[in-house]
Amino acid sequence: MHPDDPGASPNAQSACEEGFLSQFGRTSETTEFFSPVPEGYQRGRTAFVAVMGTVMSGLGKGIFSASLAKLLKDKGLTVAPIKLEGYLNVDSGTLNPYRHGEVFVLDDGTECDMDLGTYERLLDQDLTVRNFTTAGQIYTEILERERRGGYLGRDVQMIPHVTGEVKRRLRELAMTGGPEGGPVDLVFIEVGGTIGDYENGFYVEALRELAFEEGRENFCSVALTYILEPPTLGEQKSKAAQLGIKRLMETGIQPDLIACRAEHEVTETARQKVSMFSNVPLPRVFSMHDRASIYTIPEAMRAQGLDREVLTILDRHQKVDPVHEDSARAQWNRYAHAISASRPWSVNIGILGKYTALRDAYASIDKAIEHAATHLGATPDVQWIDVSDVDAGNVEGRLSPLDLHAVIVPGGFGERGVEGKIASVGHVRQAGIPFLGICLGFQVAVIEYARSVAGIENAHSTEFDPSLESAVISELPEQKAIEGLGGTMRLGGQDVQLTEGSLLAQLFGGDLLVRERFRHRFEVDPGCIEQLEAAGLIFSGRHPRQPIMQGIELPTSVHPYFVGGQFHPELTSRPLHPQPMFMGLMAAAIRRAHPEATSKAIEAWTMQTGAEPARS
Ligand code: GLN
Repeated sequence: MHPDDPGASPNAQSACEEGFLSQFGRTSETTEFFSPVPEGYQRGRTAFVAVMGTVMSGLGKGIFSASLAKLLKDKGLTVAPIKLEGYLNVDSGTLNPYRHGEVFVLDDGTECDMDLGTYERLLDQDLTVRNFTTAGQIYTEILERERRGGYLGRDVQMIPHVTGEVKRRLRELAMTGGPEGGPVDLVFIEVGGTIGDYENGFYVEALRELAFEEGRENFCSVALTYILEPPTLGEQKSKAAQLGIKRLMETGIQPDLIACRAEHEVTETARQKVSMFSNVPLPRVFSMHDRASIYTIPEAMRAQGLDREVLTILDRHQKVDPVHEDSARAQWNRYAHAISASRPWSVNIGILGKYTALRDAYASIDKAIEHAATHLGATPDVQWIDVSDVDAGNVEGRLSPLDLHAVIVPGGFGERGVEGKIASVGHVRQAGIPFLGICLGFQVAVIEYARSVAGIENAHSTEFDPSLESAVISELPEQKAIEGLGGTMRLGGQDVQLTEGSLLAQLFGGDLLVRERFRHRFEVDPGCIEQLEAAGLIFSGRHPRQPIMQGIELPTSVHPYFVGGQFHPELTSRPLHPQPMFMGLMAAAIRRAHPEATSKAIEAWTMQTGAEPARS
C-alpha cells in the first residue's frame, strides 16, 4: 500500500504505518528498499523542510533557511537545521578559511561550515555534529559498515545505500534534534551547492525518496532561485530561474514554494512566469530581494506569508503558540530596529591579520562586533589591517595615524605576520588602546609581555620556532602524541574558571564558571606562569582542574582594557546575547573615542535593545 494513501481510515492508517516500516525499514538481502529507519522512529511526528538552490550559488540559502526556521521557532515549534555539504572532507577543520570562509566550531567540538554560525545566531540555539553532514562523512560511514559486513552480502550502491544513509541521518536528527535530545517538530535541510552539481546529486535523490516515504504533509520543498536583471535591459528576466526549477523537477522533486532572490522586488510578471512553468501557485512564489540588513529577513518573510504557507503545506497550524510568537517577535524586532537606528558613538576598530581581504575568514568576529556595537549604541568603522610588514621600528608610524579606539588580534595559524602582531600588541599595550586577543592573539599578547616586561628575551611559540627548548607558548601535552591534522586539536566547549574580582569575572556578570569554545594546539607553558604573574600579567581565566591558562588581563589601573582568551569568544556571541568580552571592548572603545560618554549613557542605550549577556 502506498504509505500516503489519502483515503486511509484510522485502521488503514496503522496498516499504512506497518507498510511504511516493512517497506522502508527493512534491511534484508531481499528488499530493494534499503533504508535503515532508526528504531522508534515515528513517521509524521516530525516534518521536513528542504531548501535547495537553483541557478547559482551564493544566494544566501543558509540565511534564508535559518530565517524561515527562526520564524517557525518563534511560533513555538521546535526546529533543527542541518547542512548537507557535498565535499569529501569529513569536516571543515582542514579547509583554508581564506578560501572557504571561517571554520566554525560547535560546543561538541565539530569543525563545520560557517553557515552553522548563521543558524546558531539566528536561532539562538546550540547545534551539534548531527546538524552538519558532509559527503566525506557519509562515505566513511558506509565504507566502514561495508568492512564490518553490515550489508549482508549485497553490493553497496549509491541507491539505495548512500541515499539510505542520508535518510537515516535526517530521521535520527528528527528524533534527537529537539530540546534535551528529544524529537523535534521541524527539520530544516539545506542542501549545499546548486541543483545539477555532481556533488549533491545523491542528497537530492535522498530527499526525493524521503518526500515519498514520509508523505505529503510531512515534507515541504523550497526552491531558492534567482531572477536576473541585466542593466542593459532594465527589466527582470525569469528564464534562468525557470530552467533551474525545471532541473529540480527533473530529479522528481516538485517544489512546494519558490523564493526568488533578486536585487529589487520581483515583479508580478516575473513571478507569474515562474509560477506557470513550475506548477506552483502564484501566492507561493515569493520575492526575496536584497535587504539592507539580514535581521529584517524573518519579518519580510512573515509579511509575505511564507511561514503561513509552510504550516498549511505541512498541516501544522495547530502547533502555533501565538503568545510565544508575540514576545519572540517583539524582542527580535527591538534588535532589528536598533541595527538601523542612528547611534550616538562612532568608533574605529582595528583587526590585525595576515590576509585581511577576505572578511568571510573572520565572519563571527564581524558579527560579534556588530552585536556589541548595536547594544551599546556604537557605529563601528572596522579596519582590517595587514601587519605582516610591521616591526618594532615602524609600528608607531603605521598604527598611530589610524586613530584606533580598539584593536583585536584574531586567531590564526602559521608564522607569517606573527612578529608584526607582537610589535602591534606592544604598541597597543603601551598606548593604552583597548585590546582583545583571541586564541593566537592571546598567545601573541603573552609572548609580547614575556619579552617586553617579564624579561624573557627569546619568548616565542614552539609553533613558530620548534627548536626552542623553553618557549612561553608550547604544545599542549595531549597534542604532542597526535599526528596528522584532521580533528586533532583541543576542540569545542570547555569550562573556564574565572578569578573572583577580576575584570573578566566582572564582564561575565560575576559568573565564575563560564563555557567558551576552543580550537588550538598550543598553550601557555605552565613553567612560565609564575614569572609572567610576577611581572604583572594576570591569568584570570583557567581550566578548572588542569594548569591550562585560558584568559588574561592587565589591571585596569595599568591599562583601560587589555583582555585575551585562549578560546574564541566570537563563536558564542548572539544578537540577543552579545558576548561579554566584546561588550567590554566596545564600551572601552566608546570611552576612548568619546570621553564625554558616561557609563550611565552607555547603559541606557543597552536597556533599549534588551541585551542580556551571552549564555555561557
Ligand atoms: N595556532 C595557535 C594554536 O594552535 C592558535 C590557534 C587559533 O588561533 N585558533 O594554538
